Amino acid sequence: EFGTLADVIREQARELSDKPALVDARRTITYAELDELMDRIAVALQREGVGKADVAAICASSSAEYGATFFGILRAGAIVAPLAPSSTAESLIVQLNDSGAKVFFLDAGVAQAMAGVMDQVTAKRVSLDGSDAGAPFEQWLAPAGSKPAPVEVEPDQGFNIIYSSGTTGAPKGIVQPHRMRWGQIRRGVYPADAVTMVSTPLYSNTTLVSFLPTLSNGGTAVLMPKFDAEQFLKLSERHRATHAMLVPVQYRRLMERPDFDSYDLASYRMKFSTSAPFSAALKADILKRWPGGLIEYYGMTEGGGSCGLVAHEYPDKLHTVGKPLPGHDIRLIDEDGREVAQGEVGEVVGRSGAMMVGYHNQPGKTSEAEWWSPEGLRYIRTGDVGRFDEDGFLTLMDRKKDMIISGGFNIYPSDLEAELGQHEAVLESAVVGVPSDNWGETPVAFVALKPGRPIAAEALKAWLNGRVGKTQRLADLQIVEALPRSHIGKVLKRELRDAYQAPAT
Ligand code: ATP
Ligand code: MG
Repeated sequence: EFGTLADVIREQARELSDKPALVDARRTITYAELDELMDRIAVALQREGVGKADVAAICASSSAEYGATFFGILRAGAIVAPLAPSSTAESLIVQLNDSGAKVFFLDAGVAQAMAGVMDQVTAKRVSLDGSDAGAPFEQWLAPAGSKPAPVEVEPDQGFNIIYSSGTTGAPKGIVQPHRMRWGQIRRGVYPADAVTMVSTPLYSNTTLVSFLPTLSNGGTAVLMPKFDAEQFLKLSERHRATHAMLVPVQYRRLMERPDFDSYDLASYRMKFSTSAPFSAALKADILKRWPGGLIEYYGMTEGGGSCGLVAHEYPDKLHTVGKPLPGHDIRLIDEDGREVAQGEVGEVVGRSGAMMVGYHNQPGKTSEAEWWSPEGLRYIRTGDVGRFDEDGFLTLMDRKKDMIISGGFNIYPSDLEAELGQHEAVLESAVVGVPSDNWGETPVAFVALKPGRPIAAEALKAWLNGRVGKTQRLADLQIVEALPRSHIGKVLKRELRDAYQAPAT
């Protein structure tokens, strides 16, 4: 069975007409309005020459218009390229050119950030907020009642191109096929009466795996242009939110608020997390103080290696990311590309019916990311290192690029970070390997402290080094204000490594 999301929304609109589909601070778009807007956007796109499998890009903060445009592009049979507004102007030009976008939807904030490079944008510009960044959206739209020419879409056609977070290097364009999104919306996780808080940016896969199923199943998406813990809690109360997808650092900001328990969150049925390490202690705290269940997903935009942990059912497995999802096959391999024995550590490779077609315009990178099993099946390499326990739950250690090899020993930064987390003064930490004449690499820690809990770096380093094996001992520990994070809340270890300066001796 296969359909397109654009067709699913049309069916929903027939049934649900006046039900709110998209809600932001300024407006509500009902299902009937969404369906009509999608038609008008699709006709306007077709007028611009955007047809089957052509690309239209969006770079803007989340809004109801943004959501409608995403679906309108799909209705034209085209591919959506949602770009991150936090990218540098230069990187946005690279992404726009790489995607081959014919139309570029943006808002005033993005136009301002791109002012110096706007003359390099060849795509037709449409301004979603009506600013002079491009043709104003309302005027650009085709007249009400317009119907687009129907477009036939195959399961393997691109649905969207998402540029990877760039946590470990330059962003790669990942082409996700319709087949992949179809599988996600049919998982049955979001019921028809879901009211989902969408507080991560819309261009990210983390958001889309929650936003798209909410709408295609007839729910309501409450969009926040920017995460703010207090605002999130107030909106959750006001809209009687039932579902939310948050990244771990957002959960932490919410749970550490002294007034958290004073909000009425009884409407919540399920919360989700993905995209970065999620500590067992934080999961336990959420289970205790926030009504409803908690599911953590582990996966990557490329689509290899999806696991899920139903945290409320497995309180003794909170240190894991759970088991492979139905239809996902996950294996662990060693440096030579051979599968490791049960219980051993290896790189996670995954396969499912929902994997990327490949990296856009980068066949070399695509084949580097593939692993072929002895039976000749295609898997995607995740670059993550993990281990299965005897019950089949996956524990992730670190990204391969973050592992430290010191004097021939493997050091897992996550072990040291977990140990540092045991100290009462430590809010969060990141351990990276830096070059060392003696050992090749040696571990260095960056630590952010809890407010009102001062401790000297030397004392904390001595405390940690007294608790770990000799080979794991830190060469240096630096106290920082906060760890550098990407727009989706991932710690940027690359930046810490690049900026590291050893103390003068
Ligand atoms: P880039 O590939 O550009 O370096 P990225 O890998 O961060 O960026 P994504 O596809 O957004 O881009 O993220 C996938 C990665 O995020 C995974 O490979 C894994 O390292 C991490 N990740 C995802 N979910 C979890 C989780 N539940 N726990 C720990 N890490 C996770
Ligand atoms: Mg990646």
